[in-house]
This record gives sequence, C-alpha cells and structure tokens, in this order.
Amino acid sequence: MKRLLVIGYGMTAHRLVEELRSRDRENRWRIVVLGEEPFEAYNRIALADRLRGVPAGKLMLRATGDPLVEVRTSTRAASIDRRTREVVTADGERVPYDALVLATGATPARPPIPGAELRGCHVYRTLEDVNAIRRAAETASGERAVIVGGGLLGLETAEALRRHLGIRPHVVEAAPHLMPAQLDPMAAELLATRLSHRGIRLHQGTALLSVNGDRTGRATGITLADETRIDAGMVVFTAGTRPRDDLAPEADLPRGERGGYLVGDDCRTPDPAIWAIGDCAAVHGRRTGTVAPGYHMAAQVAGHLLNTPTPQPPLSPAEPSTVLKLPGVDVASMGNLHATTPGAIELTYTNATPATRYAKLILDPEARTLQAAILLGHPTAYPRLHALVGQELPAPAEQLLT
Ligand SMILES: Cc1cc2nc3c(=O)[nH]c(=O)nc-3n(C[C@H](O)[C@H](O)[C@H](O)COP(=O)(O)OP(=O)(O)OC[C@H]3O[C@@H](n4cnc5c(N)ncnc54)[C@H](O)[C@@H]3O)c2cc1C
Repeated sequence: MKRLLVIGYGMTAHRLVEELRSRDRENRWRIVVLGEEPFEAYNRIALADRLRGVPAGKLMLRATGDPLVEVRTSTRAASIDRRTREVVTADGERVPYDALVLATGATPARPPIPGAELRGCHVYRTLEDVNAIRRAAETASGERAVIVGGGLLGLETAEALRRHLGIRPHVVEAAPHLMPAQLDPMAAELLATRLSHRGIRLHQGTALLSVNGDRTGRATGITLADETRIDAGMVVFTAGTRPRDDLAPEADLPRGERGGYLVGDDCRTPDPAIWAIGDCAAVHGRRTGTVAPGYHMAAQVAGHLLNTPTPQPPLSPAEPSTVLKLPGVDVASMGNLHATTPGAIELTYTNATPATRYAKLILDPEARTLQAAILLGHPTAYPRLHALVGQELPAPAEQLLT
C-alpha cells in the first residue's frame, strides 16, 4: 500500500481525503494528514457564524473515522526532503511519502504600515483568530473597532461585531467603493446606504496610514491617508491574503509570480510526486481564493492518484461567485465581471427611488448567453441565475429576476 501525505487540513484537504477514500476501492492509498491547527477540518466559509456566537463544534466537517486515514492536528510541516521523499515536522519527525499533496491554504495579509503588529490588531482566517476577536470584543462592548477592508470578509465582520457583540464598527476601504472585485459603483452605493443605516461607518477611497498605540504597545486607533483619525482599541485586517507557499524555497519548488506553488492543469508541481491544491496552488501562475476551484483540484488529484484521471466537468462559468452573508442584505455576484467578451451587453434594473433593488446582467453580444451578474435585493434570483451563467437564457432576462 502506498502512502499519501497531505500537508494542511483545511477545506480542500478534507475534500481530497473524501474523494480518494470513496474512489479507492482497492485500498491502494493510506493517507496521513498533517494539520497545523489544533482542530480537524472545519468550514472556514462559516467562520462568521462563530463570530455571531455559533459553537465551534457546529462548523466541523465530517470526521472520516476511516482506519486508512490518520490525521495529526497541531503538527506543522517545516520542510520537504525531496531526495528521501520525507516531510520534516516542526518537532523534527520525518514522515515518508510516496505522493505529497500541499494544501496549505493562504495567510491573511497584515499591511506593511507602522503599528500593524500592536496588541489589539487581529487577522481573520482561522477559528483561533475568530475566538480571539470574540474575546476582545466581549470586553470592549460599546467601543469602536476598525475593520480594514470593505470586501466580503470585512463587511461580514463589521456586521457581526455590531449586531452580536455591541461594537461600533468603522470600515476602511482603499478602493473608491465597497466589494470592488464583486460589485459595480451603483450596487456598492446601495449596499453602503444600507450598511450606514445599520450604524456601520464607512471610509471609502482612503488608505490606512498607521495604527497608533500607547506606551504599553496597545492599539489606540488609526490614521487614514486623508488624515482622519479614529480612536479604537481593536483593529481587524481583512484586506487580502497570500498563498502559504513557504515550503517552496528550501524544497526548490517553483512559485507563481504572485505566490503559490506553481502547478500545471493537473495540479502537479515539476516534481511528479508533489501536487498542490486550493488557495496555495498557482495553476499556470493563477491563484484562486475561493473554495469551488479548490474542490475541483481535489477531485482531479484523487483521479490522478488512482490512475483514473477522469476528466472533471469544467469549473462552472459562474465562478467566481459570491454571496454576502448578512441577514437582510441580499447581495450576490457571479461570473467574472471584469473579463467579459468585447461587445457584451449590460442590462441594469432598478426599482423606484430610493432604490432598494438593483441588478446588472452581462450578456454576450447577441444577448443570448448570461456571462456575469450582480444582484442586490433579489434573494430568490441567485440560484436560478447562478445555474444559467454560460447558458442560453430560457426567457427574457428581466423575467429571470422575479
Ligand atoms: C471568513 C472567511 C469567509 C470565506 N467565505 C468564502 C465564501 O463565502 N466563499 C468561498 O468560496 N470562499 C470563502 N472563503 C475562502 C475559503 O475559505 C478558502 O478558499 C478555502 O478555505 C481554501 O481551502 P484550502 O484548503 O486551500 O485552505 P485552508 O482552508 O486555509 O486550509 C489550509 C490549512 O493548512 C494549514 N497549514 C498551512 N501550512 C501548514 C503547514 N506547513 N503544516 C501543516 N498545516 C499547514 C493551515 O493552518 C490551514 O488549516 C472564506 C474565507 C474566510 C477566512
């Protein structure tokens, strides 16, 4: 029996283990997973639920309970010895492999500004990060917090802190509008109005200059590029991630230009025994940051490991798709809004002033195929349109919004 070693036990590693075990009828592979976090795999996408107070146990993904799968939590892989085909853990143990899959995810970026490491500054990627944010917020109820980044994560954090922990959130977004990767200015403005009505203060089009602190090393507030100062004992960075590719240099594995283990379409590195999947992989240099492509890669690698590289159905053209998970605020986007064909037709729909609903549908030049969409205030249209991206529309576009 061969040994598959997986580094990282996040969402895509969990999917890989499930795929391989369900397809490996002849028990060809025994699997060992090294996970640095003290927990088994959990639903990272649902971390905002934890921030809202849902017990951590509810986030856990199904444990395998399979005798051919050994999961070692709190175990960090420190280096890869490609010559002997072994991974060395932070404790110095050498773990052999026949095939190695890197599924190390991404790490949240702290901006390179003065004060970013002060006490009271947080990042938001893991269950432990969220537990730390909750603990800090519980002792700071009624106080201000600054959330740096007006994307999906930042807005979900701001709303959870406001609604469930009594914090007064300020969101800082350097781009001219919120969720710049997913929304156009009109949708972003409507969203901003709703969030402002809820008491979330927004600072858009201005960058964070510094986090200010006191003599004890605690954050006391921030200064923005437009010289605005906000007093706050808590700062949460939610602007951007970097692939966790730190094992590459010593192992002499190539990285993509913007980071990530460089792999081909089959997710294999130049070393035929080593693969990379999920947020840490850069397929032909392109990195992803959402879970659907990671699951796709996991299924593909499972096929290759079993020598049955069944062609996977291509990733849905609706990806990347995003749903902002804020109760009562229905915002979604799907398809690549910035990569539509020349001559594409943009249809926008809005209701009376003040507008509460907005939709933008991007169609091909013949107005037959849906390429991308933005929806605000159309909660039931999302699943229907998501399934239609890349397909010929079965009805006039506006009928699909009702
Ligand atoms: C709050 C939040 C909300 C999100 N919402 C969405 C969403 O709505 N939709 C969406 O598609 N995506 C969302 N994402 C992104 C999604 O969670 C990631 O795309 C997905 O988790 C990637 O899976 P992964 O397995 O590649 O990495 P991860 O899930 O990050 O897992 C990687 C694991 O590897 C471990 N690791 C790293 N290095 C080592 C090492 N050397 N040794 C051992 N272990 C190591 C890490 O500690 C981690 O546990 C969200 C992310 C966050 C943080």
